[in-house]
Amino acid sequence: MKVYENIIIGGGAAGLMFAAQLSNKKRSVIVEGNSKLGAKIEISGGGACNFTNKKIAPSDYLAEKSFIKETLKEYNNRWLISWLEERGLEYRIKNGREYFCKKSSKEILDIFKREIRGVKLRLSTRVESVSKRDGNFVVKSSRGDIVGKRVIVATGGLSFPKLGATDIGYEIAKSFGHRVTPLQPALVGFTLQPQDAFFKSLSGVSVAVALKVGQREFSGSLLFAHKGLSGPVILNASLFWQKGHIEIDFLPNFNLESIKSSSKSLSNLLPLPKRVAKHFFDALEIKDSAAKYLTKEDWKRVEELKSYSFAPAGTFGFSKAEVTKGGIAVEEIDQESFMSKKVENLYFLGEVLDVTGRLGGFNFQWAFASATKCARAIES
Ligand SMILES: Cc1cc2nc3c(=O)[nH]c(=O)nc-3n(C[C@H](O)[C@H](O)[C@H](O)COP(=O)(O)OP(=O)(O)OC[C@H]3O[C@@H](n4cnc5c(N)ncnc54)[C@H](O)[C@@H]3O)c2cc1C
Repeated sequence: MKVYENIIIGGGAAGLMFAAQLSNKKRSVIVEGNSKLGAKIEISGGGACNFTNKKIAPSDYLAEKSFIKETLKEYNNRWLISWLEERGLEYRIKNGREYFCKKSSKEILDIFKREIRGVKLRLSTRVESVSKRDGNFVVKSSRGDIVGKRVIVATGGLSFPKLGATDIGYEIAKSFGHRVTPLQPALVGFTLQPQDAFFKSLSGVSVAVALKVGQREFSGSLLFAHKGLSGPVILNASLFWQKGHIEIDFLPNFNLESIKSSSKSLSNLLPLPKRVAKHFFDALEIKDSAAKYLTKEDWKRVEELKSYSFAPAGTFGFSKAEVTKGGIAVEEIDQESFMSKKVENLYFLGEVLDVTGRLGGFNFQWAFASATKCARAIES
């Protein structure tokens, strides 16, 4: 039976970048459950793959900062952009900071397909378990056993099972004695408790807000969705939300004092779409009178719009989440090589680790950076 040098489990962002970095591709194999490579890359960023961000710092991640710091410093956004540029990628920058493929995520996928030429591909092959036999690893798959000297687990998280996500990476880790921290959907919308059910009537409307979740503050667009709240600012909040309430300012950068003596009605003064204002006025029992006639009690209720206490019922779940929060505990992983500290020649990369970035290209940056550092450590 053939013994591979590297068995790469998962042909997603991290698995592809790892394979691309190998100088000798012939003795490696990518084992991928889907019938094609990079399914998440393809649909990511609205089909244009937001692969990195203008500013990347450890604070953009929910992770053990000391573990990710050096990797993100060495294999940072500048390194990634020039690596892709050298291979012909054209990109555009959105919102002044988010890097997307110029037209389509196929452009970045095509680069990887070119860069991994020589690596053996086993597509539509689901990994079921990994064990050790006579010093080698045996990867049991839906299409038989595959034997190799090293195993690189790049199986991603649990989100979007329809794109091939499975729990196999966590199961492999556990079977070798690794600890997996609790797994939760993140970069995902929130469902509503009964007191906020009126949000549903605003389904489809977006507003600019600022919010506080724990110690974190975010501002951006909030979308009233059919099932609850979504939009970029909410997705970011979901990464840092445990339980309890989120404080939302529906009137960011707006000073209520400036309108208190106005003879215009409140709905004409507040920078909110009329429809949104009306639903909030009904829910908070705010009178839509001329501002100058409102009482102290009335203003207290208006002020609630600046510090609305929103307690999510839960999230939209893994089927809608962009990422999985939690993962393989990083203290048991060598941060120089990404090799398990428990089992020689077993490696873990990308989202399967307990490292989760916020919205804006941070998760691909991590997947690509961890994969490159690992491949270069192996080859050094
Ligand atoms: C809708 C959506 C949009 C996103 N947009 C962005 C974005 O614009 N920017 C950004 O930074 N991040 C984005 N993300 C997150 C990003 O896609 C992931 O963080 C990233 O792909 C993680 O890379 P990875 O290689 O660790 O895992 P993945 O890319 O998920 O790759 C894991 C691979 O392992 C395979 N696999 C799983 N189980 C098995 C098994 N049992 N046997 C064989 N193969 C298996 C999977 O099929 C998959 O191909 C998005 C995610 C989603 C769901």
